[in-house]
Amino acid sequence: MRVLFVSSEIYPYAKTGGLADVSSALPKALREKGAEVVSIMPLYSSIERKKHGLEKCAISFDIVLNRHIYSCDVFCKGDTYFIANTTLFERDSLYGEYEDNGLRFGVFAYAVMELAIRLKPSWDVIHLNDWQSALVSYLAKVRYKLDTRVVLTIHNLAFQGIFPKELMNDLEIGWDAFTLHRFEFYDQINFLKGAIAYSDQVVAASPRYALEIQTPQYGCNLDSFLRDTSYKLRGILNGIDTTEFNPANDPYLFKSYSDVLSENKQANKIKLLEELGLKYPQRPLFVFIGRFSWQKGVNVILETLPCVQALEINIVILGSGERYYNDSFASVAGAYSNVAVRLGYDERLARMIYAAGDFLLMPSVYEPCGLNQMIAMTYGCIPIVRLTGGLADSVADLSDEAFSIERGVGIVFEELDRFSFLLALSRALALFTNPKRFQAVIRHNQCVDNTWTTRAEIYFSLYQEGDTL
Ligand code: ADP
Repeated sequence: MRVLFVSSEIYPYAKTGGLADVSSALPKALREKGAEVVSIMPLYSSIERKKHGLEKCAISFDIVLNRHIYSCDVFCKGDTYFIANTTLFERDSLYGEYEDNGLRFGVFAYAVMELAIRLKPSWDVIHLNDWQSALVSYLAKVRYKLDTRVVLTIHNLAFQGIFPKELMNDLEIGWDAFTLHRFEFYDQINFLKGAIAYSDQVVAASPRYALEIQTPQYGCNLDSFLRDTSYKLRGILNGIDTTEFNPANDPYLFKSYSDVLSENKQANKIKLLEELGLKYPQRPLFVFIGRFSWQKGVNVILETLPCVQALEINIVILGSGERYYNDSFASVAGAYSNVAVRLGYDERLARMIYAAGDFLLMPSVYEPCGLNQMIAMTYGCIPIVRLTGGLADSVADLSDEAFSIERGVGIVFEELDRFSFLLALSRALALFTNPKRFQAVIRHNQCVDNTWTTRAEIYFSLYQEGDTL
């Protein structure tokens, strides 16, 4: 099985969120199952070529589109290939709000095709991820006429890659593809919509999210289109790479531990609180790690902070994102003696927080899959999640009759309002004061299989299913 895996971010080279983790872990799991997987991503200027040992390959090509020439070089590290083009990818951030994002990732899609045909005469599967690689589906099927299965995974339907329709000319996409059933979306071009149309199979990042996106509430204006294409849509829960996220072997921790109930976990908590200027390590520690965006439910956290600062708990928040939330959290930092806020993206601090935390806050408005709750469970930190998407698929509520090994256990709440969130926190406090039950939950979560091992198998059989379009 020869798989071409295309993603706009792959850990450890470039990461803004869970996509990077998945794009590193899933190909690895597929390779372990015997697939030959080649991954392709852009070479952003933030990628440290020397540090990661990237080598320049003897492959380069020009892509000529609408009388413009885009010259591409190729770098590689093992089975991962990087497309280099100074104008398109040497920017301050991966996506930013660049006006030419459509062009950047459109040309990237062409480069993927040019590299693909140079690397191998034929591929069994091209696996695309999110809007940034979406155009590859059209190119593979229509422009290059490959007889290759195309699979698209949607990691977040809110990001669709919508651009002015003039981009059709810049990227030389035939106007016959600008229809209601292909790229056209309110008179603009929608990369993700086109990819849903041209792919043989579409995967959502969890089974529940696959259903949710077919409803107006979660469908981001594509729900009816997704209902029409539901015959090829399914959900596969993401997993985590437990060799990467492993408290027994995590170089970022103060003290590593294989037993989630050991004193070493407590030692990380004491160390983190010291580092962040918080007192009382015997108190339960609630943590949040993630993007500051409406999606992550940060509003309800901000709204409840004035109330929870009176409780005998500690709260640690790490994240960054939209300016409004960055400012709001910055103004909270230092305002309460039991709340510490760190703005920014910090892999080391994130790992320390998972290791130190007793409860992870994930009050997401929607969550395609979510990896934080799986990482937290591995580190002995109990998730408090809203009942949505992959959170619902990976965490069962404490009150469920019997703990099933299929899912982790945490505190699950449904309504996204202050009252429900506070109620969830109070249930966590009650759990914390019942050490036997608290420890039973932590132990259970450590035994739940959130690895890619079985989930990669589901992808594997999907790669072999049915005829291509
Ligand atoms: P997203 O929707 O952002 O992709 P996921 O839950 O799927 O969310 O994955 C988030 C990943 O990014 C996890 O590995 C998490 O630990 C990491 N992460 C998120 N925010 C930060 C941050 N500020 N610093 C370090 N790591 C972060």
